[in-house]
Amino acid sequence: MPVLVMKFGGTSVATLDRIRRAAKRVGVEVAKGYDVIVIVSAMSGETNKLVGFVEETSPLFDAREYDAVVSSGENVTAGLMALTLQEMDVPARSWQGWQVPLMTTSAHSSARIVDIPTDNINRKFGEGMKVAVVAGFQGISSEGRITTLGRGGSDTTAVAFAAAFDAERCDIYTDVDGVYTTDPRICEKARKLDKIAFEEMLELASLGAKVLQTRSVELAMRYNVKLRVLSSFEEQSDEAGTLVCDEEEIMELNVVSGVAHSRDEAKMTLISVADRPGIAAAIFTPLSESGINVDMIVQNISEDGRTDMTFSCPTNQVARAEEALKKAKDAGHINFHDLVADTNVCKISVVGIGMRSHTGVAAKMFKVLSDEGINIKVITTSEIKISVLIDRKYMELAVQSLHDAFDLDKAA
Ligand code: ASP
Ligand code: MG
Repeated sequence: MPVLVMKFGGTSVATLDRIRRAAKRVGVEVAKGYDVIVIVSAMSGETNKLVGFVEETSPLFDAREYDAVVSSGENVTAGLMALTLQEMDVPARSWQGWQVPLMTTSAHSSARIVDIPTDNINRKFGEGMKVAVVAGFQGISSEGRITTLGRGGSDTTAVAFAAAFDAERCDIYTDVDGVYTTDPRICEKARKLDKIAFEEMLELASLGAKVLQTRSVELAMRYNVKLRVLSSFEEQSDEAGTLVCDEEEIMELNVVSGVAHSRDEAKMTLISVADRPGIAAAIFTPLSESGINVDMIVQNISEDGRTDMTFSCPTNQVARAEEALKKAKDAGHINFHDLVADTNVCKISVVGIGMRSHTGVAAKMFKVLSDEGINIKVITTSEIKISVLIDRKYMELAVQSLHDAFDLDKAA
């Protein structure tokens, strides 16, 4: 039998009623002849509640016990989903991560999947079981301890199962009906995309379009798992939602597919650092050791052997970054005249695979911003993305005007 993976996020299993609704969707696919692997999240709000319990009990908690506690929300929904399916006469049973066993590294609270043996579940399919309901987000380390895959990790569980079982597709049921050209809350002309390429989705996901955990998209790209994002709140046809797939499957690649924004960015500049070999390493090593997520980096032209170094990081990491750099200065590893933080910026990016073969996208983007009187503070580019830092007060305006300028409201 062909295998289908269906993943239901927290809002899709938030109540017994919604679990019933989701189970009906599963029943439809079973009736079509699939063996189905259902991956469930915890009921919405549940994981946050469990994290809160841990932090209140033990501020410097043992990460192994953190995982033991926060993984438990998924156990509840897995059992309830299996029971609901049984009530509908669909042969189903639940599996916790360790029962599969979904093997992971020992990096508690952000473990990586090492292996998903298929024999246990396949044997049950062979015996007539139609649905394996698997608790998402969790696994077991080689030391035999329960692990979790990081917040949002059940997307990654779903894609990993789809790869391991060579599933026809991995359907991610969520509370939005697909991936949009931009955030519909900011731009009312935002349009749902029918298809988007893995690489584009990866850029959008890492830029904060929270539909999918970034790691799940990486995994889908590596194993060429067809991913579909769709709403569990609407009646669905086979073409519903957004298909995240290999670019080969997209007829006409968009030059620009989406405009992303990230609100909480900060721009930090080290003024007048010595321009010598090893200076970048001396600056960014302490930052990385302090866990700062450095994003854009710009080094200015140097004058008299000194230069300015600018980077961006999330606003809530500015204090920690300042501390790390001052420490490095006091220790004599680096030398700068001043450290300036601008916490009123945001990042706007345009993303599209067609940029690889089309020129002029950057020029057009800059022209649009300049026509609106928006000053660009930092620019970075990749093969399929152009990002700029601008003042946060212009964020909505920038998103809307770029969306218009690149005709994103019209289907290609
Ligand atoms: N329940 C976990 C979380 O809230 C995992 C997931 O839902 O993907 O992060
Ligand atoms: Mg999620």
